Amino acid sequence: MTTILLENVSKQFEQMSSGQPIRLQAVDHVSMRIASGQVLAVLGPSGCGKSTLLRLIAGLIPPDTGRILYDNVELDEIPGQDRGVGMVFQEGALIPHWEARQNIGFFLWLRHREHEVPERVARISQITGIGLEKLLDRFPSQLSGGERQRVGVARALARDPRVFLFDEPFSNLDAKLRAQARVELKRLLNEFPVTSVYVTHDQIEAVALADRIAVMREGRIEQVGTFQQLYHNPLNLFVATFVGLPTINLFQGEVRDHQWHGRNFGGYPIRNDLPDGTRIVLGVRPEFIRPSADGIPAYVQAVTPHFAERHYQIEMAANGEHWLMLVPIETLVTVGDLLYCAPDPEALQYFDRESETRVG
Ligand code: ADP
Ligand code: MG
Repeated sequence: MTTILLENVSKQFEQMSSGQPIRLQAVDHVSMRIASGQVLAVLGPSGCGKSTLLRLIAGLIPPDTGRILYDNVELDEIPGQDRGVGMVFQEGALIPHWEARQNIGFFLWLRHREHEVPERVARISQITGIGLEKLLDRFPSQLSGGERQRVGVARALARDPRVFLFDEPFSNLDAKLRAQARVELKRLLNEFPVTSVYVTHDQIEAVALADRIAVMREGRIEQVGTFQQLYHNPLNLFVATFVGLPTINLFQGEVRDHQWHGRNFGGYPIRNDLPDGTRIVLGVRPEFIRPSADGIPAYVQAVTPHFAERHYQIEMAANGEHWLMLVPIETLVTVGDLLYCAPDPEALQYFDRESETRVG
């Protein structure tokens, strides 16, 4: 298996802006290591540089600066046919005038190993629990979106990749199919552990498939960690708000006498080197603000049941501030109710308002 190393990788594009060419930094000094057999998700909003980063890792485009290594060998020293990159794209990218069988078997055919195709297909069908066999004689135009993506995954796997790269492969599928495709892919990755990079804007996918998640913003990797690390210990406001559903609650406030004070909540201890008047944003995840007799009074604005998770998401308001809470589904709560609320003192995340970095 293959370890992928990125050292200080950057890529710029020239774009026109009001008639003037400008340099756009699509990937900005990215360094990271993807251990052999691991799945890394790259998670970030549209346009942040995910596809560009993936194309760099695939060797489809060269970096402007920095190096990419597979097992300590620089990518441009590895001949194309030895890189062993299996890629799955958003659009599937199947050859339209080939049947699924030919699409899947292409790389084996190149190596005069097309006799292995039936066994491969049977194995992949067995692991995923989908009937790949019955799709083999169809052309891509005769396949549904979900079927096309499954054929795309099978094609990438059939070539024995050293490295498996995914660019939002399921983003065009509806929610139910997406969830199903995710489970199938997870089974395949468990069965054939291949060093993988999975690019997505969808945190649910990232959590389901990846060992570690790299959060990307404007060409930079902001933080790499497990979902738990990103969720409980975000390094900055961007990561805090991008990771977690529903989104983290943010409260504006400032430091007085080594305590944080906001509009409703306050009086909580904070790092004692912060001078009075420093403006600090308090972040609290919705499940860590709870009804509590010694909390502050607030009114219920909206109640949304999440039956599968067995809780209500409730929107609260007091003195012009709004926040979300998650309460057990057994709680009797209706719009207009007065509830006393308090955050869990163990779950407070402080961010400097100017730099947006974590300060406690
Ligand atoms: P993502 O996949 O996260 O949506 P991309 O990597 O596709 O982001 O794009 C990152 C930025 O680089 C975007 O602003 C995009 O417009 C720009 N970009 C991507 N490819 C090219 C290209 N070939 N030429 C010029 N600009 C590009
Ligand atoms: Mg993209």
